[in-house]
Amino acid sequence: MEKQGNIRISSENMMPIIKKWLYSEKDIFLREIVANACDAITKLEKLVSLGEAQSGEKYRITVTTDEKAGTLTVEDNGIGMTEEEVEKYITQIAFSGAADFLEKYEKAGGDGIIGHFGLGFYSAYMVSDDIEIFTKSYREGSAGVHWRSDGESTYTIGDCEKEGRGTRIVMHIAEEEKEFLRESEIRRLLRKYCSYMPYEIFLDPKGDDDKPVNTPLPLYAKQPKDCTEEEYKTFYRETFSDYNEPLFWIHLNMEYPFRVKGILYFPKVRKQVELERGQVKLYCNQVFIADNIKEVIPEFLMLLNGVIDCPDIPLNVSRSFLQNDKQVQKIAKHITKKVADRLCELFRTDRKKYESCWEDLSTFVKFGCIKDDDFYQKVKDIIIYKNISGEYRPLSEYFGEEVSDEAAKEGKEPQAAYYVSDENKQAEYIRMFKDAGLDAIVCDTYIDPHFISYVEYKNPKRVRFLRIDADVAGALRENDGEDKEIEEIFTEALKESGAKVKTEKLKDVGVPAVVNVSEFMRRMSEMNQFYKLGDTPAELTLVVNTANPAVCALKNAEGETRTLAAKQLYLLALMSYRALTPEELRDFTQTNTLFIEKYLEK
Ligand code: ADP
Repeated sequence: MEKQGNIRISSENMMPIIKKWLYSEKDIFLREIVANACDAITKLEKLVSLGEAQSGEKYRITVTTDEKAGTLTVEDNGIGMTEEEVEKYITQIAFSGAADFLEKYEKAGGDGIIGHFGLGFYSAYMVSDDIEIFTKSYREGSAGVHWRSDGESTYTIGDCEKEGRGTRIVMHIAEEEKEFLRESEIRRLLRKYCSYMPYEIFLDPKGDDDKPVNTPLPLYAKQPKDCTEEEYKTFYRETFSDYNEPLFWIHLNMEYPFRVKGILYFPKVRKQVELERGQVKLYCNQVFIADNIKEVIPEFLMLLNGVIDCPDIPLNVSRSFLQNDKQVQKIAKHITKKVADRLCELFRTDRKKYESCWEDLSTFVKFGCIKDDDFYQKVKDIIIYKNISGEYRPLSEYFGEEVSDEAAKEGKEPQAAYYVSDENKQAEYIRMFKDAGLDAIVCDTYIDPHFISYVEYKNPKRVRFLRIDADVAGALRENDGEDKEIEEIFTEALKESGAKVKTEKLKDVGVPAVVNVSEFMRRMSEMNQFYKLGDTPAELTLVVNTANPAVCALKNAEGETRTLAAKQLYLLALMSYRALTPEELRDFTQTNTLFIEKYLEK
């Protein structure tokens, strides 16, 4: 006998609202329905283990598409439901659950609820005109139950013939949602949401040799000691479709005081890390929630690839709630600590490998330091810098002792480390440094300017960075070598250029002059550009080498020739610092041609 009933829900017309709000992610309905099927099997397994139910055939979930009939069916051989249970759990709970969800969703401003978790059975109405349930409880003597509703206001319920216990959900897919009848689309969705669900899921099975679309026991859920290197690499390849091998990985496996399982991989990224953000997939009890949820996983860890399963995260809440949740913060801290520990371990036990991975790791580590002070404290001693000879060393080897308070009062500054921000542009400075037996470190990634400032800020008494062209004369100076006459010649010749002039005797007599820009001024100017506060070029100082023969020869030259020669030496030095402007280049070429002419005429 079939009964009819009215669905009692507070908001009469949830359907249009749900459709409008969840439009972009309506495919989660499949996750919800398949997750319910898994839950039904888990419940049965529990009862079997307690001796309260009989186990039957192998547990499985079958998903079937039928384009002709316009139906998508999900069937499980789990616990099933009696008529009373269908009334209670589906007609009442599922619908009121959806009403509840909508209320929270609205409060969270529309997109706040993580992965739209908690919408449950009702979400299938996002894509269906009508849904039928055929179910039979595990209880002995239970009859089959058939329930059907369009989700709007009425439903029917009655007996039916059903073989075996379990539940079959038949979704009559709406005309405009026909894509959900395509096997390929359903396969894609099952892979996205259900890859690690704990029971075998078959899609449109055809025979005995069908393979499940999922992996019921994913690698991350195993004990680390039971996993081989090859398995980690395969899991990486299959999960992230990255055919580069990962550098190394961390297997998280914690039960107490909260549960976290997962594997985080350090991908090979080189310097393009800003373009290729990583992907950290969040799962809850093997059910996919979403990618890159920054409220749970610290932002800098998003540069990694990984899967993390946290059953303890409350998902049916808004994102802002999650951000302030103590438990979630603890989980994030734990993950960060594990990452830092793994890096320190690699540094200690396999320095060679650590160095070979550094180019890939460094952006990640530096970004992590800037974002998270705890992380910085843990890894600060294992941050290494490549020098201009290609060797890697930790920062401590570049800096001396801290400057004491007394010495600081007397104006003593920490010892400076020179750095190169572009090996090509600063090639001439690097050459001079190498010739003089001096060292500099290479800081040429986009994050380095920020990182350098950060390290200085954290170590004000010990660390100071100078770009290789910032005070190069200071490093290369032989002795004072001041020469008033030469200074005047250049000051006069360069009065329109805005450059300041200084004379020094440099170690390398072959270099006529070098351009210096104070570190402070250059950083200010770069910052203004960065924040679009205007273009304020930093003031240049031309350091003229009084030991250079060409410079000395200027004293014997006169008038126009002397001015042109001094300008030419300035432009030569400028070229090692930056590209010439079109006007500068024109002047340079004209004078050069003139000089060649005069030289050949002699
Ligand atoms: P939730 O799963 O969050 O409790 P749902 O709306 O998805 O909410 O489902 C409501 C209830 O209906 C479930 O708690 C469960 O008791 C019952 N149910 C749903 N699907 C199944 C199924 N495949 N087998 C047995 N019971 C089910």
